[in-house]
Amino acid sequence: MQVDWLIVGAGFTGAVLAERIASQLKQKVLIVEQRDHIGGNAYDYHDEQGVLVHQYGPHIFHTNAKHVWDYLAQFTQWRSYYHHVLGVVDGKSVPIPFNLNSLYSLFPPQYAAKLEQALLSEYGFNVKVPILKIRESAPSEDLKFLADYIYRNVFHSYTLKQWNLTPEELAPSVTARVPIYISRDDRYFQDTYQGLPKNGYTPLFRNMLNHPNIKVLLNTTLSDIEGEIQYKRMIYTGAIDDFFQHIHGELPYRSLHFNFIHTPVEQYQAVGTVNYPNEYHYTRITEFKHLTGQRSFGTSYVEEYPQVYVRGKNIPYYPIPKDEYRLLYKEYEAEAQKLAGKVLFAGRLADYQYYNMDQAIARALSLFDKVICQA
Ligand code: FAD
Ligand code: UDP
Repeated sequence: MQVDWLIVGAGFTGAVLAERIASQLKQKVLIVEQRDHIGGNAYDYHDEQGVLVHQYGPHIFHTNAKHVWDYLAQFTQWRSYYHHVLGVVDGKSVPIPFNLNSLYSLFPPQYAAKLEQALLSEYGFNVKVPILKIRESAPSEDLKFLADYIYRNVFHSYTLKQWNLTPEELAPSVTARVPIYISRDDRYFQDTYQGLPKNGYTPLFRNMLNHPNIKVLLNTTLSDIEGEIQYKRMIYTGAIDDFFQHIHGELPYRSLHFNFIHTPVEQYQAVGTVNYPNEYHYTRITEFKHLTGQRSFGTSYVEEYPQVYVRGKNIPYYPIPKDEYRLLYKEYEAEAQKLAGKVLFAGRLADYQYYNMDQAIARALSLFDKVICQA
């Protein structure tokens, strides 16, 4: 078989690039995907009881990038959805990201009001402050107490469970994803555009890849087809250290085990996700019907158990944001640059970046416009 482009991986990065190349450049693309489905980690399907679930954990689309939202809107309608998360702290369920409402859920009203006033005078209203920043800058005894309280009860144990590292051992950007929000806004994200594909992510991917210039081979790895397919250029969206056979050593990743449960009740929990920073071995439980709006008698939810990543045994879900690993990645990036005329690398695993879906899509669109179209 002869194609213009070989794309490794049918997640958002691979699918966007295949769609652009096929529709805009009219060139032929072959995608190889090692799993038995398209969609990468955004893949969803109906479980045995008919409930639409996300096989690799909850995926909520959110972005401030209008061009990304408009791009996807060619392939799906949107269901408007604002994600709400509660965290169980001292036995109470409090809004996460921690905000002014969380204060009143946890503390006696007069003390909550005092802490609210202290936050407002120090930082102002509608401001997001990362926990590590509040901790190092808190000027008064009240704010010091509050910062330590939130750190201990919301961040420390959750982060240890999720990463097996403390917040200080990771890049500050990790805990800054969920900053303290001095506001009454209980939504998990504040992006301008938020929602889920109306019929699910998998139909969205099917629509993107439904083009006569695109062929997809499932259950196929890059090494399965090497030497058998003739291609002019390759785009690789898998783990970059795998591609180079770990010549500089293995990049670390964090994995997860997902435990799916179906129960014959209408609703299992009050909101889409409940975080358990301190109790249990799982970090959070997500009930899918909140996200998808599906109506059915029973309900399905998933518990997420963080795991050590072992190559060949489980899936590398998260690159680990930490300076020393970034340096190791740079050695692979230098290898990648030597191949730039023939192979392009992009995606959460190939760039070793903690991308959300919109960032992976923006990266793919920009690679197409700035590199592929200019070649
Ligand atoms: P992937 O989706 O990982 O796709 C890469 C594909 O390449 C995979 O299908 C893999 O099987 C394939 N592949 C790799 N190597 C090979 C090989 N050698 N041969 C053949 N195939 C190969 N983002 C959000 O915006 N909102 C969320 O709510 C959200 N929730 C998330 C929850 C979890 C638990 C996780 C893990 C991620 C979440 N994300 C979320 C992030 C989102 O999953 C990623 O941004 C997105 O999937 C990145 O797309 P990608 O194509 O770069 O990578
Ligand atoms: N985090 C935390 N407690 C929470 C929520 C998040 O400590 O209740 C920290 C934790 O380190 C987590 C990071 O913030 O890994 C980012 O959280 P996010 O919900 O963005 O993670 P993801 O959805 O990518 O797993």
